[in-house]
Amino acid sequence: MLSTVTETLLMGPGPSLVAQSVRDALALPTIGHLDPRFIAIMDEIKAMLRSAFATDYEMTMPLSGTGSAGMEAVFANAVEPGDRVLVLVNGVFGKRMAEVAGRLGATVSTVEFDWGTPVAVEAAQAKIEEGWDIVALVHAETSTGVRNPVEAIAPVVKSSGALLVVDVVTSLGGLTVPVGGWQADFVYGGTQKCLSCPPGLAPFTVSPVGMERLARRKAAVPNWYLDLSLLTGYWKGAKRSYHHTAPINMLYGLHRALKNLQEEGLDAAVARHRAAHEQLALGLESLSLEFLVDPEFRLPMLNAVRVPDGVDEAVVRSRLLAEADIEIGAGLGPLAGKIWRIGLMGESARPHHVDRLLQALRKVL
Ligand code: PLP
Repeated sequence: MLSTVTETLLMGPGPSLVAQSVRDALALPTIGHLDPRFIAIMDEIKAMLRSAFATDYEMTMPLSGTGSAGMEAVFANAVEPGDRVLVLVNGVFGKRMAEVAGRLGATVSTVEFDWGTPVAVEAAQAKIEEGWDIVALVHAETSTGVRNPVEAIAPVVKSSGALLVVDVVTSLGGLTVPVGGWQADFVYGGTQKCLSCPPGLAPFTVSPVGMERLARRKAAVPNWYLDLSLLTGYWKGAKRSYHHTAPINMLYGLHRALKNLQEEGLDAAVARHRAAHEQLALGLESLSLEFLVDPEFRLPMLNAVRVPDGVDEAVVRSRLLAEADIEIGAGLGPLAGKIWRIGLMGESARPHHVDRLLQALRKVL
């Protein structure tokens, strides 16, 4: 069956195309997870992750598991039973945060915003100021193509005294993610979007304030695998100890992807995603296709495009895949059947890929 796998142009909500250099790194010989050469690779990954997150937080490392493991790790470590958590929800991943926090013992409240619109500071402010242990939101809501204004919400959360949790799974590497500037306390990303790596790791960072909260925990973290106090024994210090067998080759891949980001430069990567988005927007306009989201809050890397009346969105997606080897995504939840989600993430955000998609769309429509 593996012979059925051929190159597909990935222009959906993730995974994105994996850079050839990352594929080469994944294929390097596996070495031991406590081999000094591997420890040196881990240390470089931590340093490169800090620059991708634009922070100097000491506790920065990739967790073994996809973006959802990052989300789970936040609430498993930060929440103690009965802690009050407020989640600002405007799509699938905000809802998922609320679900995960609740399962881990938090008393959860949400403020909900229409899907396709951003979290609005004025509407959330009074609720935030009621006083919470944690306030959480998604930076790039992949289900709707909305960029939430974390830069405006973060100061309100921080002055309320709550810990700030931000999901940057889709934005990391494609938008500026100034974790230190936001003073965010728990932040997690993913590898399979703008970093152009396969899925499997969750870049993760915790502020000193977040670490103090962990140090004051009364009960043990309920999830052994994602317990940061145990993971630090492997990721930090002069003498490393076994916790779980790290996914060694995936970490080679992440190392290469972060190196690629460093070599391109974060600002240049952000500009490339923006340029691909503008190119796509022009092409969609010529096809009379419209965006779901207002220009100010559109994500460059996830374009939510309204399905025109009378068009069967699933047929368009299947034909793009069958006839042009291009994958785009469907709408989720209330947006199912109403939008396509066109991803311009990492290696997929290149002018020739955008051209290829626009040509194929023109043919199919
Ligand atoms: N958060 C956001 C914003 C996402 O887009 C995704 C996945 O698409 C996740 C969390 C969950 O990540 P994963 O599917 O890698 O577990």
